[in-house]
Formats: sequence, structure tokens, C-alpha cells
Amino acid sequence: MAQPSITLFNTLTMQKEPLEPTEPGAVRVYVCGPTVYSYIHIGNARTFTSFDVVVRYLRYRGFRVTYVRNYTDVDDKIIKAAHETGEEPVALASRFVEAFREDARALHMVEPDVSPKVSDHIPEIISIIQKLVDKGVAYESQGDVYFAVSRYPDYAKLSKRNLDDLRAGERVHPGDQKREPLDFALWKAAKPGEPSWDSPWGKGRPGWHIECSAMSARYLGESFDIHGGALDLIFPHHENEIAQSEGASGKQFSKYWMHCGFLDIEGAKMSKSLGNVVRLRDALTKVDAEALRFFFLSTHYRHPLNFADKAIADAEYRMEYFYETLRKVDERVAGKDFGKGPLHGEPGRFLKEFEAAMDDDFNAPNGLAALSGLFGLMNELTDKPPVKDKALVGRTLQALREDVRKVSGVLGLFEDEPAQWLLRRRERAVRERGIDVAEVDRLIAERNEARKAKNFAEADRLRTELKAKGVEIMDTAAGTTWKVAAPATEAA
Ligand SMILES: [Zn+2]
Repeated sequence: MAQPSITLFNTLTMQKEPLEPTEPGAVRVYVCGPTVYSYIHIGNARTFTSFDVVVRYLRYRGFRVTYVRNYTDVDDKIIKAAHETGEEPVALASRFVEAFREDARALHMVEPDVSPKVSDHIPEIISIIQKLVDKGVAYESQGDVYFAVSRYPDYAKLSKRNLDDLRAGERVHPGDQKREPLDFALWKAAKPGEPSWDSPWGKGRPGWHIECSAMSARYLGESFDIHGGALDLIFPHHENEIAQSEGASGKQFSKYWMHCGFLDIEGAKMSKSLGNVVRLRDALTKVDAEALRFFFLSTHYRHPLNFADKAIADAEYRMEYFYETLRKVDERVAGKDFGKGPLHGEPGRFLKEFEAAMDDDFNAPNGLAALSGLFGLMNELTDKPPVKDKALVGRTLQALREDVRKVSGVLGLFEDEPAQWLLRRRERAVRERGIDVAEVDRLIAERNEARKAKNFAEADRLRTELKAKGVEIMDTAAGTTWKVAAPATEAA
């Protein structure tokens, strides 16, 4: 089988390039994971969702993917947080590893093949540092070990920063034992009250960057295909990973580098100082997980994304439309046999458009646009079929439904039973808008009585009364259902 032609934007070359993995048919992916000192925020969630979709799509296209995403469980932030809570740093970190797993599951992320922790890989880390010291690219200084940036001529090839500017901007902090301002710590001598391990340079702990070099080499080899992370990791973290890994192995580290854009909150940068950091788990109490994924995916992963109440509400209405369509289609065709025969129009074209969009640097927004066409045709075929042949319509709907399942596996959307998703959505809206469900049920029952008695004026009056309460009713083959209507301002 020929390899599908996927292109991706490579931060290293600043160009879109065809994906040509080192081993044909197999893609090895490393993504820098969370530092587990707190709950992740929705900016982190966007990054991990983007790579979740990259991995799912590569698998959908037939690649064997090895996906590694680490946990940084040894870090200054963890030590600081542990001092504040009075916990052991290791205990605090493992608590937030569990919290991250819960969050990732809640957001329908696939579990990576390997999720290594720094604290489990100290021997690998020491061994790569030793290699760098032996090669003269790193040096020991009073129990610390530093990478000598001047000994690695390719430094800053990813970030394209100017070394003189960098040197001018870097301070040597008190207590630093480094020779030159740009040199960075691979190993830090132990300080009282901090976790530490034995090493050839005495007790200490790894610096931040070295962990990714050590763990990627362990699970993917010294050279692999795709390295991903958020944009703010390019410098210094990814730059330093390249320097360490290529300094030690003499081989190219990652062939392709992918970076996910920033997420703003209502037009402002998300930051602790502005007090506008939104945790994923808090967001998920207000917005459906798939609607949040839909919101993330409706902007290209490399572009900035603005998290705003209006945009989130729109994403939920869009998901509601999709699920209402799927419920109608399932009611019409699920489990039925319409025989073999031709299909109406060219229903397969939407999936092809979706694939073409995703082949082009994982362009999910264009993929979602193809999906709009697919759902539009489903609605047309269920509501106003342009042809009389019921078997033809049924077969076509079944083919479209099957394509939705394929897309669902890639985007992590529509993974729920439509009726269940819609019910959950309704329950949330009922709580938010303070709607009395018993009263709604009573008015619907009255309306059904009026319709039975052919008192259509009364039935219409009851429909209007419900509408005034924010309730929209739908008469389906399975009876009357209802949903919470969009508020007038948002529907406009
Ligand atoms: Zn990393």
C-alpha cells in the first residue's frame, strides 16, 4: 500500500513538508507532557487535544504510531507547591498525575502508548549526562552539571534566535556555577528539603530539559519522527532538548517539530497575574467535553485561539445540531436492511474532503467544514428527501452514518449515544436556566391531549407558552421531545 501523502508544518524548517517517517509506515511521536504540580488549564488541554487528533489521524491513515507523552514529576514548581501543602513532592506529583489522567479521559483523549515519569528514569538521565560530560559538551561544577552551549554549534536552530542577543539577555543567577550565561543545568546539586538521587557528581536532581532527551531516547530511539508541544516550549526547552540529544548521539533528534498556538481568555493573555486562568476541570463543569473539543478543533492548531463564553456556547449549539441529526438518522435507519444498490448523489465525497483537509497539516477546521456538508445532506435526506426511493435514501443515510463513525474516531467527537448526549445537554441547560421539568412535562401532556382532540388552537397556544419558558418542542416518530431553546440574543 502506498503511504498516504500527509504534509505538516515543520517548525525546524518553517515549511510545510511531506511526512516521511524514518521507518516507512511507522511514526514515532513525542509530546512534552504536563508538569504535575497543579490541575491543567484549558491552554494545556488545547495542546494535548491537538496532538491527540494528530495521533488518531495518523492511525486512521494506517500508520503504526508510537505515542509517548511524559509527566514532569521532578521540578521546582512541584517542590514549591509541596512546601505549601506540606506534602512530600513525590506524593503531590503522583496526586496530580492521577488528576491529569482523569482530565484527559474526561476530554476523550487516547492514552499514550508510554507515559513515562522523570522519577522513574533517573538512571537514563544520568547516563546521557555522563555521555555529554565524556564528550566535553558538558561540565561539572561544584555538584552541578551544565551544558556548554558554545560547544554545540547548531544551538538555536529551532528558535532561530540570535546568540548574541540571547547572551545579552541572560543573567547568571547567584548560586549558579556555570561558565557562560547561556549554559544550562543538566543536573543540580541537592539542596536540603528537596528530592535527590545519587549520581557520579554527588546527590542531586535533573534539570528540566534533560528528562525529555532521556525518555524519548529510551522509548523512541535517539532519532524519531515528530516532536510536539506548545509554542512557548520552543525556547529554551525544545532548543535545549535538541542540543542535549544531538550533542550526545551525533544524530538528528526529531525530524519534524510541531507547535500548538496559544489560547487567550476573552481576548486577554491567560496568566496567573491577571487571575484569568481557567482549569480544564472547572471548564468541564460548564461545557460539554465534546463541545470543548469541537471549539479547540474549529481553529487550526497552529493559530491563536480565543476562549470566550460566546464561542463556547456556539460550539455547544453546533454539537447539539450534530447530535440531533444523528438521533434522527439513527431512528430512521439503525439496524435496518435496505438491500444492496446505488446511493443518492456522491455521499463519499465528504469523507474524502475531510481526509484532504487533515492530510494538509491536520487542518481540522477545514475537516469540520466537510462535516457540515455531510450533516446537511443527512438532514435533507431525513426531512425533505429529494428522491422517493426509500431504500435508496436509507442506504445513503447508512453510508453517511458510517462515515461519521470514521470521523468520530479521528476527532473524538460524536462518541456518545445521541439520545444520551442530548439528554445531558438538556439537563445542564435546565439547571442553568432554572426550568421546571415537571411543569414542562405537564404542558406537553396537555398539548398532546389537545392534538388528539384536534384542538389545534389550544395545542399551538401551549407550544407558545412552552416557548416563552425557553422550551422548544419537537414532534418525532418516537413522540414529542423537547430541548432548551437558544436564548434570543445568542440565536440572533
Ligand atoms: Zn520536553
